Amino acid sequence: MSGVNCPYRKSCGGCTTIGQDYESTLRKKEKWVENLLRPYVRLDGIVGMEQPLHYRNKVHRVCSYERFGGRERHIAGIYAEGTHRVVPVKHCLIENETADAMIDDLMDMVRSFRIRIYNEDTGVGLLRHILIRTAHATGQVMVVLVLTSPVLPGKKHFLKALLAAHPEITTVVININDRRTSMVLGEREQVAYGPGFIEDVLLGKRFRISSRSFYQVNSVQAERIYAQAIEYATLKGRETVVDAYCGIGTIGLAASDRAGRVIGVESNADAAADAAVNAKLNHADHALFICDDAADYLQRMAAERKKADVIFMDPPRSGSSEVFLEAAVAVSPGRIVYISCNPETLARDLGWLSKHGYRARKAMAFDQFCFADHIETVCLLTHS
Ligand code: SAH
Repeated sequence: MSGVNCPYRKSCGGCTTIGQDYESTLRKKEKWVENLLRPYVRLDGIVGMEQPLHYRNKVHRVCSYERFGGRERHIAGIYAEGTHRVVPVKHCLIENETADAMIDDLMDMVRSFRIRIYNEDTGVGLLRHILIRTAHATGQVMVVLVLTSPVLPGKKHFLKALLAAHPEITTVVININDRRTSMVLGEREQVAYGPGFIEDVLLGKRFRISSRSFYQVNSVQAERIYAQAIEYATLKGRETVVDAYCGIGTIGLAASDRAGRVIGVESNADAAADAAVNAKLNHADHALFICDDAADYLQRMAAERKKADVIFMDPPRSGSSEVFLEAAVAVSPGRIVYISCNPETLARDLGWLSKHGYRARKAMAFDQFCFADHIETVCLLTHS
């Protein structure tokens, strides 16, 4: 696909390569990962997308103001990369198009219902953010309104108008964030409509996703990444598998039909609760999900002399910690499948593991974040 023109390219800064030919962006990412991993393993290639636009299933808008002709008007935008400056965005080339259109209509309703927009400088106002999550396979849609107070004036009519305009919405959640913080979501929530979560299907398994749980933003590529991770694990059906940094349990449950036992560990309480429900939804009685720090849990396993056959690990961008890696090695898995969203921290962690008895054998990169400066890599390590 040849380069596409995005009017927000300079001001937003998220998609650094949106004007370039997609194939060439893939080759650059491949080289980037290849170079970083060269001391440890040969990269087997990069898996791109057939349609690299509108892949993001999660859309986030900051609600703010803009001065126009001496007057202030409401805008919904994106924080310019690395700043708190809001760039008004109407149509984003990488986001789900239905969600984009919904934001537009929502902002019209915000104006007609005279809902006050939050002002970051003064701390006054009600509506801070709008978040929309769409489920790729089921079509379910969650709208999250982040407010400074649980009271949305005219809520009943607002919801009625929203659902009339967008019957595809299956749930609406009001999240309360009254703190002067850069965090988008607050701790408290109220379900305004529907069940308060959406469900999606990946690799034939059903997953419940709550507003505050992590869920991969690119469902098409997430399925391919998980499939690769499971292939690398070469499970025979009897193994004890640890899914570390498990989120809502996607990798562990996708692998569960081929494992004897699955233990998922996740520190976010909402995601861990979703994972436990997801085990039930998929009739995986042999899968156990624990809300804990992944390193602490593995350390306890090691102290109790428990072993794991395979560890899937999928840490955040900062990578893993030495405490985690030490504990992982201490439960002596035959295989470690590392799913990484940052090749720099992956290379660092491979460096540590290579000095502690593990060898990287295979690696494959996946373009999860087309046109942005990020890349996902799946790497297999075995006990050497
Ligand atoms: N494997 C999941 C989630 C990956 S994102 C998926 O594919 O959807 C990384 C996850 O690690 C997030 O859910 C985050 O909440 C969790 N996390 C971050 N630090 C952690 C820690 N120290 N211990 C356990 N989980 C952690």
